[in-house]
Amino acid sequence: MKSTGIPVNRGMALAPARIVPPWPIFSDEKREFHTPKARQIASVQNAVSRLSAFYTESANNFYAIGDNIRGDIMVVHNAILHDHSLQEEIARQIHDDYALESAVLRAFRKYSVTLSAIDNEYLSQRVSDLDDVASRLICAIIGCEFPDIRLGEQPVILIAGDIPPSVMAGLHPGQIAGVVLTASGKTSHSAIIAAGLGIPVVAGCEDAQNLVADGEPVFLDGHTGALHWELLPREVDAFSLMAQRNDRHMEQLSHLAGQPTATADGTPVQLCANGQDAVSCKEIDRCGCDGIGLFRTEFLFLGRRVPPSEEEQFFLYKSVVEAMNGKPVVFRTLDMGGDKIIPCFPTEEEANPFMGYRAIRMYLDREDVFTPQIRAILRASAFGTVRIMFPMISNLEEFLSAKGHILAIQKELTAQGVAYDPHIPVGTMIEVPSAAINADILSAHADFVSIGTNDLTQYTLAVDRLNVAVSYLYNHFDPAVLRLIRHTLHAAAQNRKPCSVCGEMAADPLAIPLLLGLGLRHFSVSPGSLLRTRKLISLCRIDSCQKLAADISQATSAKDVVGHIHRWIPEAYAEWVV
Ligand code: PEP
Ligand code: MG
Repeated sequence: MKSTGIPVNRGMALAPARIVPPWPIFSDEKREFHTPKARQIASVQNAVSRLSAFYTESANNFYAIGDNIRGDIMVVHNAILHDHSLQEEIARQIHDDYALESAVLRAFRKYSVTLSAIDNEYLSQRVSDLDDVASRLICAIIGCEFPDIRLGEQPVILIAGDIPPSVMAGLHPGQIAGVVLTASGKTSHSAIIAAGLGIPVVAGCEDAQNLVADGEPVFLDGHTGALHWELLPREVDAFSLMAQRNDRHMEQLSHLAGQPTATADGTPVQLCANGQDAVSCKEIDRCGCDGIGLFRTEFLFLGRRVPPSEEEQFFLYKSVVEAMNGKPVVFRTLDMGGDKIIPCFPTEEEANPFMGYRAIRMYLDREDVFTPQIRAILRASAFGTVRIMFPMISNLEEFLSAKGHILAIQKELTAQGVAYDPHIPVGTMIEVPSAAINADILSAHADFVSIGTNDLTQYTLAVDRLNVAVSYLYNHFDPAVLRLIRHTLHAAAQNRKPCSVCGEMAADPLAIPLLLGLGLRHFSVSPGSLLRTRKLISLCRIDSCQKLAADISQATSAKDVVGHIHRWIPEAYAEWVV
C-alpha cells in the first residue's frame, strides 16, 4: 500500500511505524449547564482513582526493573493528582459552571502560574509535570487515550495527524528515522523542526495514521513524499537497497561540509542556515555555512507559561552568536500568532488568526515583550555579528516604528554603559504581498530584506499554509508569487541592499536555478538542506539560469513554470531531483 504526501525534507528510511494518537486539545472556556454538579465532581473523583491506580502500577513496574528515576516520577505525579488544594480548585471551577475538562485545565493553570512565578529552577521545572498530570486527568475524565510518544532505542517513523511544535522540539533525533504529519502543511512549524533534524519528513499522506499498523515496517521516501506499508519481503529488500543508495548520496554530500558555496561558473553565493535552537545549531556547525540567515526566536517561547527573561534570552542569543564565530546571525523578533501559539501571551480568539493580531502587529503593542527581547539581542551583538529582522511587516510605518523602538533601547543601553553594536543592521521580512509590492520603499529604509516565501505564498494566493484541503493551491511556483519575488529582488538591488530568501523555497531543488536566474545570491535554508543546496548551486551556471528565468517570465501557471524547469534540468542535476 502507498500514500503520497508533500515532501518536506529529503532522505529515505525503512523502519517500524509509530502511530501517534491525536493530541488532545482542551478548551478552558467551555461551560456546562446540564449535568448536575455533584455528578460532575463524582466523575472527577472516579477519574482520579483510575489514574492513581495507573500511576501506582507504572511506578511498581519501573521499580521492578530497577528504573528508580521513572518510578519516582510516577510517585510524584500521583502525589500531584491527590493534592487537596488542586482538587478543591477543580470543584470551585465546576461550581462556576465550567465543563469538566475546562475546570481541570483552569485549576491546574492557576497552580502552574504560581509555580512558574517562583524564582527557583527546580520548582519552575515542575510546571511540565502539572501539565502532564492535567492532560492525563482530562483524558481519564472524558475517556480519551493519552497520546504517548515516548520512544525507545530503535529509530521509528512517526506517523501523526500533527504533533505540537513544542512536543516535536523535545524529541531526540536518534530515536526518529522519519516523520509523516498527515494533517499538517509543508511549512507547519512541526514539519520545519522535524526537517531541522535532518530526517525525511512528509506532510499529508491522507489518513495514514489510521491505515498503517503501529510497529509494522514502513518505507518513507522524503524525495517523492511516498509512504509505503504492508510491505512484501521482496519490497523490504528493494527499499532497503534504495535506502542504502540514498545513504551513499548523503555520504557524497558530506564531503561538501565546510566548503564554500559557488555556482559552476564560479559565482560566489552566500548560503546561510535557518536556526531555532541548540539542536539545529549543531547540524549547522557540522555542515558549515555563511551564518544564520533566520533565527526563529519564537521557539524559546513555545510551550512556556512564563516568558523567558531578558537574561535567559541573552544567554541563548549570545551562545548562538559565539558559536557562529563572527559570521552573521539574523535574529527575527518574536513571530507569534498564526500557528505559533504562545501560551505565555494569550490573545483573544480570532476568526482569521493568520490575518489578525500577530507578529509585529502585537509586538509593537507589547513593551513587556519587545524590550527584554531587543535588549537581549543588542547585548548579544557585543559578542559577534548580529542583525535584527522584523516579521510580517506590511507597511513602512510599521517598520519605522519598530526601528524606533530599537533606537530608544539603544539609548537606554548607552546610558547604562551596556555594550552593544551601535551599527547593528535592521532588516525586514518580505512575506506580505503589500511589502513585496512596496519593496522599493521598504528596502530604501531597511538595511537588508529577506523574502519569507512560506508566508508570501500563503498571503499572495489567499491559501492557509496549514490547510491540507486547499494545499493544491499552495505553490511557490505560481506566477503571482514569482512576480513578487522578481520585483523584490530588483527593488533591493536598485537600493543596493542585500536580499535573501529564507522560506522553504530556497532549498527546493526545482526553485534553486530559477532563484539564481532571478538574481538571488543569498540563500537561507533549514540545516538538513544545507549540503544539498550547496551541491545543487554548484551544478548551476548563471547564464543558463538567467535564460530559464527569462523563459519563465512568460509562464501562465505553476504547472507551466515547473514544466519549463524540468526541461531545463541538465543530466547531472536531475540525479538530485528524485
Ligand atoms: C516564511 O514565512 O517564509 C518564513 C521564513 O517565516 P515562518 O516560516 O517562520 O513563518
Ligand atoms: Mg513567515
